[in-house]
Amino acid sequence: METYDLIIVGGGPGGITSAIYALRARMKTLLIEKAGIGGQIAVSDIIENYPGFPSLSGPELMQHFEEHAKGIGLQIKYAAVKSITKENDIFNIALGKETLQAKSVIVATGAEPSKLGIPGEAELTGKGVSTCATCDGPFYRNKDVAVIGGGDTAVKESIFLSKLVNKIYHVHRRDRFRAEKVLQERIASKDNIEFLWHHRAVEVKGDQAGVTQVVVEHVETGEQKTLDVPGVFLFVGIVPSTSFVDCEKDDGGFIKVDGNMETSIKGMFAIGDCRVTPLKQVAVAVGDGAIAAVKAEEHVSEMEGTLYAGKKPAE
Ligand code: NAP
Repeated sequence: METYDLIIVGGGPGGITSAIYALRARMKTLLIEKAGIGGQIAVSDIIENYPGFPSLSGPELMQHFEEHAKGIGLQIKYAAVKSITKENDIFNIALGKETLQAKSVIVATGAEPSKLGIPGEAELTGKGVSTCATCDGPFYRNKDVAVIGGGDTAVKESIFLSKLVNKIYHVHRRDRFRAEKVLQERIASKDNIEFLWHHRAVEVKGDQAGVTQVVVEHVETGEQKTLDVPGVFLFVGIVPSTSFVDCEKDDGGFIKVDGNMETSIKGMFAIGDCRVTPLKQVAVAVGDGAIAAVKAEEHVSEMEGTLYAGKKPAE
């Protein structure tokens, strides 16, 4: 079986950057992606904090990354990784029936939207409950919707939706957003958004056709209001996609790494939103990706020097 120098799991900005650096270091590299190149960025309406591109859409930015990586020969495999184990210094990357081998691995799987766990949420997901404004927003043109959450995602997506829908009830459990100040200023200027501060969603109601109402309650008084909306967008944080790796993680499942992006397993690195990081941004994932690829190359060179004593395994 061929052994890759490096397998990168996840094709977001971090994974693509690692691939660019690894290919330039002439590592035999494979990138595995379960859905489509881009990760969360591919469904972001607009990116305004990535240097060199004052304002462009998420898909456009990812298209640039993808073209760059493919242009220098990146091999991409579309599959879901089930587990990664290490045996005799070689990583086994299981993809269902097939298992691939690599001398180093970079986990760049990002994160998925969190759920609220309230009645109606699971049953009506895809029938009016959404975590993607760019995907589902157009279904609510000129209708009323509710948006839940106060982070960058909630505020950004609410601004995006405000251009499509008739009215937004923006529900947040505190009296201020944690989103970037520039986003806070922008959302404050929208005249079709009603802010329901100190409120949380407690139930999503619907029928065969989908969502009909969202029940919200005041966090202090418990007073409830029913919002008549056919759509509710939940942006209440993220959970890392890391269940398939068995290295040290924090309580939230984010992978712990050192300054070289190396996990508790030597030769396995983690980058971007799936790692413990003070900032989840494209620019950070890109920087992580560069560091991890360089360190993975060092790991492989060191390994070949000792494990194989100059003799490479059959390829
Ligand atoms: P986040 O920053 O974790 O914000 C989650 C929001 O949901 C918070 O406002 C939180 O309220 C609220 N929330 C959490 N649990 C809740 C619950 N059970 N009920 C009601 N509200 C709840 O998540 P995010 O906005 O998805 O962002 C994730 C990361 O990606 C962040 O680091 C963010 O900075 C980054 N990001 C950056 C950009 C950008 O363009 N700069 C865009 C998107 C995401 P509290 O505020 O009260 O905690």
